[in-house]
Amino acid sequence: MCSASSKISDLDDNRILGLTLPFMAGIYIHIPFCKQACNYCDFHFSTSLQYVDEMTDAICAELIMKKNRITDQVGSIYLGGGTPSLLSEKSLLKIFDTISTHYSIDSAAEITIETNPDDLDANKIAVLRQSPVNRFSIGVQSFFNEDLLWMNRAHNANEAETCIKRSQDAGFENLSIDLIYGYPLLTDEKWFSNIRKVIGLQVPHISAYSLTVEPRTALAHAIKKGSQLPVNDEQSAAQFVSLIDKLAVAGFDHYEISNFSLPGKHAVHNTNYWRGVPYLGIGPSAHGFNGHVRYLNVASNAKYISELTAGRLAETVEELSLHDRFNEYIMTSLRTMWGTDLQKVASYGKVFLEDTSKNIKPFIERDWLKTEGNKIILTAEGKLFADYIASELFLFNEHAAD
Ligand code: SF4
Repeated sequence: MCSASSKISDLDDNRILGLTLPFMAGIYIHIPFCKQACNYCDFHFSTSLQYVDEMTDAICAELIMKKNRITDQVGSIYLGGGTPSLLSEKSLLKIFDTISTHYSIDSAAEITIETNPDDLDANKIAVLRQSPVNRFSIGVQSFFNEDLLWMNRAHNANEAETCIKRSQDAGFENLSIDLIYGYPLLTDEKWFSNIRKVIGLQVPHISAYSLTVEPRTALAHAIKKGSQLPVNDEQSAAQFVSLIDKLAVAGFDHYEISNFSLPGKHAVHNTNYWRGVPYLGIGPSAHGFNGHVRYLNVASNAKYISELTAGRLAETVEELSLHDRFNEYIMTSLRTMWGTDLQKVASYGKVFLEDTSKNIKPFIERDWLKTEGNKIILTAEGKLFADYIASELFLFNEHAAD
């Protein structure tokens, strides 16, 4: 995959992004604790905080054991979860001390922590100010109390707004806000109000997700019982379209299906995922990727801690086939505003280019895809069907079982 053609497109994308950083490896750390379970969430977390110290030690042990997997400078660190803002000052400093002792971090690295509004009091912000963190991703979801209650979020609307202003006052200007749309309680008026609010608060990055009902969540159970309405796909699509329109007027780039930013404020860490840049996955349920191999950590806090305490990694390794890597490239690149590069498709082999050129035709005729030079890009209408279109462009090795 490190062909000359992929290097050319990297340079092109770098210029479009307005980034000065080369694409450097990242570190993702999963902090698997939450105060309470949001009704729609199927991420890996525990609401028992009993083993936070043991988890911190295990995460530091894994960071040390994997240090040789990244030999270049680290360009981004992302503490996700779960709720990393639940960590104490002691745990946060221990993790960052371990990283700085064992890895070489670029001086301009993007260092993000996912936070929930109820954790971001003046004290926690002061602690984070003393840490290397330079970006917050805040799980706001809505500025309406009834909606937050419906989601079983731990914060209220006042905390959602206050924590943004407080973070900005403390010097954290590189903020990203998560919003959710498409749930039954969200009228269009409330949705427009949420969008106006984030624009008015001068937040430079927004991640917006349509509510997905995952199996084995409280929400899926309630819908099945009939105590909650199912998601209305038409309402969700209409709210997505209005989001795109309103943020475009406010000067935001729609740079990935779920992500919008003011120029130069793209998330470096996430953009690198979509570009196939290697990253380490640390913590229970975390995934890592080195360009060919995917590493999957066990999704159990107890097993993770016991393995790492015994000096063993708690991961399984999945070697990606050429077709797996191609399909992953299609899925991730098509969702971005830079689109899928046919030169890069060709670097997988002649047959990949021939089949893709044939497979995109019906979508171009339907005006769901357009071509710009060597790039295939989703049209405004195509953005509503991004995952379906990508799946139709996947290719499979018919001879794999031979
Ligand atoms: S805070 Fe985030 S990770 Fe925790 S339950 Fe809610 S959505 Fe899931």
